[in-house]
Amino acid sequence: MFTRRDLLRTSVAAAAASPLLFATARAAEEPAAGFTLPKLPYGYKDLEPSIDEETMTIHHTKHHQAYVTNLNAALKKDAPELLKKPIEAILADLKNVPMAARGAVRNNGGGHWNHTFFWSVMAPAGKGGELKGDLLKAIEESFKTVEDFKKAFAAAATSRFGSGWAWLVKGKEKPLAVVSSPNQDNPLMDGAPAPILGLDVWEHAYYLKYRNLRPKYIEEWWKVVNWDAVAANFSKK
Ligand code: MN
Repeated sequence: MFTRRDLLRTSVAAAAASPLLFATARAAEEPAAGFTLPKLPYGYKDLEPSIDEETMTIHHTKHHQAYVTNLNAALKKDAPELLKKPIEAILADLKNVPMAARGAVRNNGGGHWNHTFFWSVMAPAGKGGELKGDLLKAIEESFKTVEDFKKAFAAAATSRFGSGWAWLVKGKEKPLAVVSSPNQDNPLMDGAPAPILGLDVWEHAYYLKYRNLRPKYIEEWWKVVNWDAVAANFSKK
């Protein structure tokens, strides 16, 4: 029988002969690399003036990257079988993540999903379409007017103490509802469907440009909401 040990020995022997062969053998043996930082669907500058280039760059390449790196590290160490599972499925079933990794997966896996989603519901000003159609009707049915909806959303985002997120989700009594989560938590962790819109209110999302003025950041953020993406999320079953 050709055992894994034999295979390793062969690879090492091959490495001496050919660095290229060694690289190939290693790639075939290593487990999946895990999660990766998604590309932004726009440039770092493109959400200006609502969100400045420096904030976007740091937010994506440092903060989001750190969640991805830490998520992979926690899974590789304590739950490598989960590296191939979709992040949504992991977050919806945190109780089945081994205890040693659960806190790290909650924070960093939540951070990875939340940021990937956040990037997807924004677009350069004027490029995100209009709030219209079924989504507009659902917002009016749930909150009366668009202005009332924005007020309710901003209130949830402003009153979230410390770091967290505001979400627009499908509701139980009305078609839509506004909720918020602490830290990097999200509705998936409560067994709920994915939200249809989300806003990051961690200070790292706005502090460089808006300093402590979270309400001003929220007000400016509406200009870069991608309503077409939000409508697509709303129409998903
Ligand atoms: Mn963030």
